[in-house]
Amino acid sequence: MESWDYRVFWNEVLSQIRAELGEHEFSMWFNIEYESSTQAKILVRVPSAFYRDQLVRLYQHLIETKLYELTGTKITLDFVIVKPDGGVAAPSRRDEPEPDRPAEEEPRSAPRQPAAHRGKHPQLRSDLIFDSFVIGENNSFAANAALAISKNPGVSYNPFVIYGGVGLGKTHLMQSIGNQIWQDSDKAKVICVSAEEFTNEFIHSLKEKSPQAFKNKYRFVDVLLIDDIHFLQEKLGVQEELFHTFNALYDGGKQMVFTCDRPVSELKKLNDRLRSRFERGLNVDLQPPNFETRAAILKKKAESKKVLVPEAVIEIVARNISTNVRDLEGALEKLVAYSQLVHKDITLEVAQNQLKDVFSQSKHGNVTIDNILRVVAEKFRLSLIELKGKKKTRAIVVPRQIAMYIAREITEYSTTELGFEFGGRDHTTVMHACQKIEERLKLDPELDSTIQSLIRQIKDLSSKG
Ligand code: ADP
Ligand code: MG
Repeated sequence: MESWDYRVFWNEVLSQIRAELGEHEFSMWFNIEYESSTQAKILVRVPSAFYRDQLVRLYQHLIETKLYELTGTKITLDFVIVKPDGGVAAPSRRDEPEPDRPAEEEPRSAPRQPAAHRGKHPQLRSDLIFDSFVIGENNSFAANAALAISKNPGVSYNPFVIYGGVGLGKTHLMQSIGNQIWQDSDKAKVICVSAEEFTNEFIHSLKEKSPQAFKNKYRFVDVLLIDDIHFLQEKLGVQEELFHTFNALYDGGKQMVFTCDRPVSELKKLNDRLRSRFERGLNVDLQPPNFETRAAILKKKAESKKVLVPEAVIEIVARNISTNVRDLEGALEKLVAYSQLVHKDITLEVAQNQLKDVFSQSKHGNVTIDNILRVVAEKFRLSLIELKGKKKTRAIVVPRQIAMYIAREITEYSTTELGFEFGGRDHTTVMHACQKIEERLKLDPELDSTIQSLIRQIKDLSSKG
């Protein structure tokens, strides 16, 4: 019979079971080893008939189900008893009892079919689903594309690349697609890995001389989700492998989704052929959420945690933490933990006290244009009227540009809004000002320290309310 190497799948199944059972139970029962395999069977070494019987009773079905999920092939387990002293005890089949043990009263009808409705996907987090994802203007394009893909995988947006800064929901959206497809179908094979795991597995397959098993695993899926592909930069071997995986899946009409912390065009040391494959599909970015969306996310998270968070607290947190959703969640978690530990309600006062540091570190804080103008005016001994006015003398123009530059750096205002705040100017004026300062910063290190110290003063002033 042909020999099939399922070792990679086997290892993956065991590592999933280990994660599910915990180290203690796992080490108690999984004193077993992969011996060999044929297309439909894996022969497993066990230390005794007792072990084998327990394993069959408790875990055979689980192992077979997981193997089926990963390979799409019904693989059954057979056992060979290899006594710790090395002797092989025949017979090896579990349904042929050893002479010194009574036959089981109830022979198990093996192999069982995997459950008709699917449980949790082994690699996907069950909380990262569309239901828990708040759609706002910052992410609606990406979210709607993700929804469309999960209804019709492999049809129109392939690959789908979600990019953007940390904590903005890339992983959440990608996993939502995986979970949705997994639940909607009773047979779609879905694999979700980080680019790092993909890389490690690939390297491992080379070391173990089992590249075919690796290829089989990744080239025969219906949906492939790879998180954080910026990790692949400079790793040319694995890029090459992914390129071929990509082509196989693309030609087969299989859906691929990738996430990245920046536009693919900005990835350095990336094989051009692979880059052009990523760019072939739909590339969409996630932006930081605006205030309304931040508040909506906080409300949703509070609901799912079943804690009561007053509107005023939602508002102050949403106002003060505008960097990303992860920080927003972190702040909420801190409040929840505090209120549970000291048995206090989450009040505005509690929030202000507990999140003081988080608020002042937060990139934008309570910074207002007014505070920026005040601090800059004072530094350059100008009046607010002069700074906002139309005069174009150098002594006024440069501080004005600095103020615009700082506003652009530390607030969320758009250039249009900033133009308005700076005495009704056009947004191009603001852009021009920022460019000028950027140019000067390259030549003038002192300007940089001036600006940094201004920013500190502005934040100080702003945190005092
Ligand atoms: P990224 O992968 O972009 O770094 P994640 O997907 O891990 O970010 O998101 C960070 C956290 O914020 C996660 O807990 C995620 O559930 C949550 N999150 C991000 N965006 C949203 C959203 N639009 N609605 C609800 N939760 C979100
Ligand atoms: Mg992520």
